[in-house]
Amino acid sequence: MDVEDDLLRPPPKRAYQYADIKLHVPFSALTATFDLLSRVGRRESGLFWYGPRDSSGNGTVAYVVAPRQRMSWGNYGISAEALAEVVHRLADDWKPLAQVHSHPGSRVEHSNYDDRMVSSRRALSLVFPFYGRVRQPFPTGIGIHEWQSDYWHLLDQASAALRVLIINGAAQVDDLR
Ligand SMILES: [Zn+2]
Repeated sequence: MDVEDDLLRPPPKRAYQYADIKLHVPFSALTATFDLLSRVGRRESGLFWYGPRDSSGNGTVAYVVAPRQRMSWGNYGISAEALAEVVHRLADDWKPLAQVHSHPGSRVEHSNYDDRMVSSRRALSLVFPFYGRVRQPFPTGIGIHEWQSDYWHLLDQASAALRVLIINGAAQVDDLR
């Protein structure tokens, strides 16, 4: 079985509530994300964004990393060992801020498989279309999901633009694949 998108999820029971918490993403981290996703060709791949989080919950991405993983045209898999390798490399104050992965086409909502694959419900989950090869002004075309009331909500464009902001600045980047 190689296709993650076969089974559609049930719709949310409650509407998403925007809580005025921001994730700040340096433009260089966004560029690195597109580069890492598109570099592996027509295969899905998974990445993580880490960085500090303030006392209100606002995060700033400082590290973009592609763990060792299995990649195919329709899904990807990261073992517990490969995730541990990444955690080993983190600065003390870096938290998991987002999990990122690519999809083959324009559909960027979580599959049931994606719901199961997210390693932290405190992080956001971003799905980039077309294996990261099409770059549009953020967050156009990108599926931004947040865990809330027992559900991975796909944010609409307006909520996504409030929740995740692109800023100036640098980020560390590693490709362990
Ligand atoms: Zn997916």
